[in-house]
Formats: sequence, C-alpha cells, structure tokens
Amino acid sequence: MEQKIHDFMELVKARNSHEPEFMQAVQEVAETVLPYIAQHDIYSGKNILLRMVEPERAITFRVSWVDDEGEIHVNRGYRIQMNSAIGPYKGGLRFHPSVNMSILKFLAFEQVFKNSLTTLPMGGGKGGSDFDPKGKSDAEIMRFCHSFMTELCRHIGPNTDVPAGDIGVGAREVGYLFGMYKKIRNEFTGVLTGKGLSWGGSLIRPEATGYGTVYFAQSMLETKGDSFKGKKVVISGSGNVAQYAAEKVLHLGGTVLTLSDSSGFIYDKDGIDEDKLAHVMYLKNEKRVRISEYVEKYPDAAFHPGKKPWGVACDVALPCATQNELDGEDAKALLANGCIAVAEGANMPSTPEAIHAFHEHKILFAPGKASNAGGVATSGLEMSQNSLRISWTRDEVDERLKGIMKNIHDMCVSYGEENGYVNYVKGANIGGFVKVADAMLAQGVV
Ligand code: GLU
Repeated sequence: MEQKIHDFMELVKARNSHEPEFMQAVQEVAETVLPYIAQHDIYSGKNILLRMVEPERAITFRVSWVDDEGEIHVNRGYRIQMNSAIGPYKGGLRFHPSVNMSILKFLAFEQVFKNSLTTLPMGGGKGGSDFDPKGKSDAEIMRFCHSFMTELCRHIGPNTDVPAGDIGVGAREVGYLFGMYKKIRNEFTGVLTGKGLSWGGSLIRPEATGYGTVYFAQSMLETKGDSFKGKKVVISGSGNVAQYAAEKVLHLGGTVLTLSDSSGFIYDKDGIDEDKLAHVMYLKNEKRVRISEYVEKYPDAAFHPGKKPWGVACDVALPCATQNELDGEDAKALLANGCIAVAEGANMPSTPEAIHAFHEHKILFAPGKASNAGGVATSGLEMSQNSLRISWTRDEVDERLKGIMKNIHDMCVSYGEENGYVNYVKGANIGGFVKVADAMLAQGVV
C-alpha cells in the first residue's frame, strides 16, 4: 500500500509540484482513503481520487481598483470550482496577502470532504484574492469588493456556485459583493451566504463555525465520559471562529485562557469571561484593531508579542487562526502540559508532524474538515431558507447545527475506529469521500 500511495503522490506532484499546501492536504487524504479504496471493489480501479484532486475548473482574473488617494491597484482574483458531484460548488472567499493557487486548492479540496460530511447537497469550491484588507478604509474595501464581483458574477449563481466568507471576508464584504452581483444580474437570490439578517441571511450563521467546533469537541469529550465543565481552554485567533468558539466554551462551563492574532496572543490567567470577551469582540469587530493595540485597554491580560499560545498549560486546544499554525514542537508542548483534546476551528491548522504526535499519544484530535464544518453547514441551511423563502428561528437553526455536528462526529467514529482509538482524520476523510465517490460513479466519467 505504501508503494501505491507513493506512486499516486508522484503523479499528483508532477502536476502540482509548486503547491505545498495542496500537496499536504492531498497526502493526508491519500494515506487514509487509498487503503479504503483498495479494500472496496466498487471504488477500485476507477481513479476516483485522481479525478478528485483535479479542479473541475480554476478561474483567475484581474481585479483593478482605485484607493482613496486615486492610485490604481491590481490584485489577482480566484475561484476554484473543485467538485460538483453532490451539489453546486460551495465555499468561502479569502482576502489575504498569502492567497495563491496552492492555498486555495488545498482549501477547495478540503471543502469537498467537509461539505459532504455535513450531509447537505453541496459540492466544494473556494476563492479569494491576494488583496490585503488590513489598513484599508471602508470605501476602499467596498471598491475592491465591487470590482472583484464584476468578474466573479459570471461564474457563480444560486444553483452553480455559492461563495461565502473566510479570512478577511465577513458580513461587510459579503454585503458589498452581494450588492454588485444584484446590480449586474438584476436578481435577488441566495447566491452568497453569510448575508445580513434583513436581506436573506440566517440566524446563527455568524456563530456557526465557532459553536460547531465546540459542539464537535464536546462530542469527543463525551466519548470519554467527560465535558467542558472546568476545562482550561487555549484558543488561537480572534476573528469570527475564535470569538464564537470562546463564547460557546464559556456557555459550557470552560475557562478561556487565550486569544491571538498575528501580532501575538493575550493570556488571562483568570479566564476571558463574557464581559471581557464582549469587549474584545467590540474592539475587533467594530473598531477593527489588532490585539497588540487593544491590550493596554485590557489590564488583566498578559500580552505576548509575536508568539503563539501553545505553550500555555490547558486541557483543550482550539486552533482557530490559519493553516499550519501549530507545528510538531507546539504539539509536544501541548502534550507535555497535559492537553487531552484538540479540535481545529481553522482549516488545516496542525502540521502533519503535529497530527502525528497527537495520534501517537492517543489524545482526541479533530481535523478541521470535520470540526469546523458547522460554518458551511449553516450556510447550507441559509441556502435552504432562501429557496423556501422563509426564516427559521435561532433555536431551530442551532438545533439543526447541533444535530449535524453530532452526525459528523458519529460518522468519523464509524469510519475511523482502530482498536479502540478513534482516528478522526481517517474517519473524516473516508466519511467525506464515500458520498462524493458514489455520486461520481453514478454520474459516469465526466
Ligand atoms: N469559509 C468557511 C469554511 O471554511 C465557510 C464556507 C461557506 O460557508 O461556504 O468552511
């Protein structure tokens, strides 16, 4: 089998050698899914995974825009339409200077498995731009989003491809993007998710990724007869995912010790309680300042500039910032300090070395494509509400989200159990693969 995986990866590498993040995501799936394919005749000999690693369509385009001083800028826009076997392409848009083909292809590839795990009919896609929103005025953000949509609108639609937010794209950006789509196409449809409540958005969508990550971690803890009560929790990030993960941890009786951004992390040994969290959310969301700037307004917390929070002793770690933010050394530090569970709120935040260390020590580890699926699942619920032209209550959406996360957890257990230990990576990859593969087989070679 090792030879088979090696040969497969050589084939993929020949086409994607300059795409390290994409190769990393594919390698992990190949290691877990190829053995499963070999054991199941219906999937063998059909090159399904080889078909899945090639995007159905990858679009790049020029985004020109004018800043407040009248200077003209050019950024690159992307949309990767990875797989539409089980539904229209679905996945976020990321605006960050690091964005490139490799990062978006890894995200789109992961999205295919994640969306399949939600059990909702959504294919996988991802897009974005190397545009850096940091330090831009509101008017500049609007002009950029409008320019971006003048091209993207040709490639998306409520039954074709439904983008949403990701890093650098929140409710404000979705609003500007939606405004331009509506103007060009002259139609009011659910073409984007993460919309504002008064114009087709869903309750709980802003909270969903963070809440879902904690629901998933809760299900993992329950398999050990444990819960969040009294647990010390270290969270990285301070954006949408981290904020609502922190809120849900507090609801469930845990203590949140840290939050971070690229400027460093804050550590409050007494815990970031609801009042402090509300203050952080206000500064981050309304004032749009970074942790390094607001720490002086938060005297209880120690600020660690330029550092990540993984050296802080905790029971549970929730990496909610970005890819490869937790490496092998960080994993060793967490394990040495007694961490018993890690659930990823970001996409692929743990490096392969870190995951290896977690598995070796047999702690609970949830990969993002399973544990952060609550965001896109609730996007799927937003699409359903848009199609039905109705709105569900907060409780209705939250109950569905809880049910979906429990379902994903249980699916990971059923595909990932190995001699009493649950390998959630294997479970998520196989669980996500099966539904997409069955649809691809049914639809023939297209
Ligand atoms: N960007 C989120 C993710 O990584 C959400 C995507 C969506 O709602 O379409 O899953």
